[in-house]
Amino acid sequence: MIKVAINGYGTIGKRIADAVKAQDDMEVVGVAKTRPNFEAKLAIERGYDLYAAIPEKCDDFEMAGIDIVGTIYDMLGEADIVVDCTPEGMGAKNKPMYEEAEIKAIFEGGEKHDVAGFSFNAECNYAGAIGRDFVRVVSCNTTGLCRVIHPLNEAFGIKKVRAVLVRRATDPGDVKKGPINAIMPDPVKLPSHHGPDVNTVLPEIDITTMAIKVSTTLMHLHTLNIVFDSIPAVDDVKAVLQKRPRIRFVSAADGLTSTASIIEMGRDMGRPRYDVWENCIWEDSIDVEGGELYFFQAIHQESTVIPENVDAIRAMTNLEKSAEKSMQKTNTAMGLG
Ligand code: NAD
Repeated sequence: MIKVAINGYGTIGKRIADAVKAQDDMEVVGVAKTRPNFEAKLAIERGYDLYAAIPEKCDDFEMAGIDIVGTIYDMLGEADIVVDCTPEGMGAKNKPMYEEAEIKAIFEGGEKHDVAGFSFNAECNYAGAIGRDFVRVVSCNTTGLCRVIHPLNEAFGIKKVRAVLVRRATDPGDVKKGPINAIMPDPVKLPSHHGPDVNTVLPEIDITTMAIKVSTTLMHLHTLNIVFDSIPAVDDVKAVLQKRPRIRFVSAADGLTSTASIIEMGRDMGRPRYDVWENCIWEDSIDVEGGELYFFQAIHQESTVIPENVDAIRAMTNLEKSAEKSMQKTNTAMGLG
């Protein structure tokens, strides 16, 4: 059993903890938190050992009546690998601590590529992560783009990708960020960082992205336009995408006409925290016009990267050499696909 520590128990950290717990070849040795809030209490209720992420703050937990097992240094001593789920930029600051503890570490998409020197997506470059000490799992938007670009490139040869990303303003639990009543080019100056981020995983792809932030918390929505070496038929495109378990076709004919209805579907499926781990591609939107492919997909920002983190753990700790087998194992344990 590979022992996994989770540093940062927020939106991403708590989901990774539960996904790791669901696997039979790895276990969670503990989660580290900075503050003794409701998430700390619930982590203990879910059976996780809780550690203080900032050693000087141990007393805060004691005063709140929350039992901690030790500090982050104790947690790192128990683990084979740590998943850093702290806010954007904090992972880079934590890296020296992981190096000192001689522990493998996964960083998330809020960090720069350089933090690990290897940016990961299970479908695209699993083999490159095998045995590595440091890996960065790319962001939700980049993961969503890589999941469709890679198989389409393999099947038809991509000449160029142009994508517009309509991004949720923030996550549902956050009250600090906006906009709450605006549509905001983000950034105004093109391109957005998402295209170059795809290139950290798939360097050969010609991709340009634009991004807009809108007043919603549920999901991102991507509009994709792809030009290929040869013009594929719509049915051939569908056949390629349909084979991928981390891609789900949705249809307006079923009443799935918006990100809101997709999230409602996640609720009705009884998914944990209504998570929709798959790219949701509107099948009705897939079309080839003037020799170019167009479609819409929705990406659930809170959960898309979770299975990828499990696969990254398996690759880095040499648990499984085959990307396909790891992805299948992860998916089955999580109830995905
Ligand atoms: P979050 O704010 O929901 O959670 C971060 C947690 O880390 C919080 O509980 C915070 O209290 C804690 N924390 C703060 N400083 C810490 C420290 N020094 N040590 C330990 N814990 C600390 O953030 P998140 O959305 O889970 O994001 C985590 C990472 O995942 C970021 O790199 C982010 O860019 C990336 N990511 C986020 C999303 C998303 O949509 N939320 C999607 C994909 C990737």
